[in-house]
Amino acid sequence: MDKKIFIYTNRTEMSNSIENMLRNKLAKSSLHVFDNFSDDTDLIICIGGDGTLLRLVQEFGFPKTPIVGVNTGHLGFFQEILPEKIDDFIFLYNQDRYSIQGLNGVSCYIKTSDGTARHIALNEITVKGLSTHPVHLNISINNSFIERFSGDGLCVASPAGSTAYNYALGGSIVDPRLNLLQVTPIAPMQNVAYRSFTSSILIPSNDRLSVIPCSDDDKTLSIIYDGMMSEYENITELSIGLSRKKINLIRFDDYQFWEKVKSKFL
Ligand code: NAP
Repeated sequence: MDKKIFIYTNRTEMSNSIENMLRNKLAKSSLHVFDNFSDDTDLIICIGGDGTLLRLVQEFGFPKTPIVGVNTGHLGFFQEILPEKIDDFIFLYNQDRYSIQGLNGVSCYIKTSDGTARHIALNEITVKGLSTHPVHLNISINNSFIERFSGDGLCVASPAGSTAYNYALGGSIVDPRLNLLQVTPIAPMQNVAYRSFTSSILIPSNDRLSVIPCSDDDKTLSIIYDGMMSEYENITELSIGLSRKKINLIRFDDYQFWEKVKSKFL
C-alpha cells in the first residue's frame, strides 16, 4: 500500500546528499515523499544525529507518527539506519518487518508568581542557577520532603535520556523498557554545612518530583530541555515527572538495546 513519508534533516552536506539518494530510491517504490508533515503522514525519516532527532521532537511536539533515523551525526544512539543500509530499510519497511520502541519524555510544569509554563523533553530536564553560585532547592517526591539540595543543579532524565547528559554526570544507563525517572545531582555539596545526595535516585513513572527554591536568590533558574534553555524568574515550584507523551521509534529485527550501548560506549 502507498505510504506518505516526510523527511526531516539537519541540512549538512552529508545529510543533503543522503536525502537526495533516499528520494531517488523512494521514487521507485510505493513510499511517497511529501514536503509537509501532516496528521496522516505514515513515517518520518530523520537524517542527522541524535541532536537532529531532539530538534524534530521539539519542533513537531512529540509526533505520534513513527520515526526512523538515518545516522549522519557523531553518535547516533537514537538513529537506527546507517546511510549504506538504506536499501535494507526500504525492503524491510515495505514488508512491515520492524517493531516500535515507544520512548516517553519528561515534563516540567513551572509555577511562578506571574503564571505557569511547561516544557517536555525527550532526554532530560536540567535545572540550574544563572550564575556560578550554587542553587539551594527543597526536593520532595509526591509531597514527601526528601532533601535540601545544594549544588550546581539537577538533571532529571527519562530512560531514553539516560545515555546522554545523565551518563556524563555519573548517572546510570537505563534500559527503556524500565519506566522510571532518574534524578542526578550536578556537583552536589556534601559537607557539614550542606548535605545532598551525591548519587542518582530513581523514582517510579507515576511519581512527581517537586522542586521549591529555598530563598529569593534561588527563584531565578534556567530550565534546560534537551539542550534548549529558558530562564524563569519568581519561581515558586517546579513539578517534574515522566510525560505521557512519547515518540515511536522504528527498530528492525536485529535491534537490541544493550548491543547498541556496547557499540556506542565501549
Ligand atoms: P550537542 O552538544 O551538539 O550534542 C550532545 C551529544 O549528545 C551529541 O553527541 C549527541 O549525539 C548526544 N546525544 C543526544 N541525545 C543522546 C542520547 N539520548 N543518548 C546518547 N547520546 C545522546 O547538543 P544537542 O545535539 O543539541 O543535544 C542536546 C543534548 O546534549 C542534551 O539533551 C543533553 O543530554 C546533551 N548534553 C550532554 C552534555 C555532556 O555529555 N556533558 C552536556 C550538555 C548536554 P549526536 O552526535 O548523534 O547528535
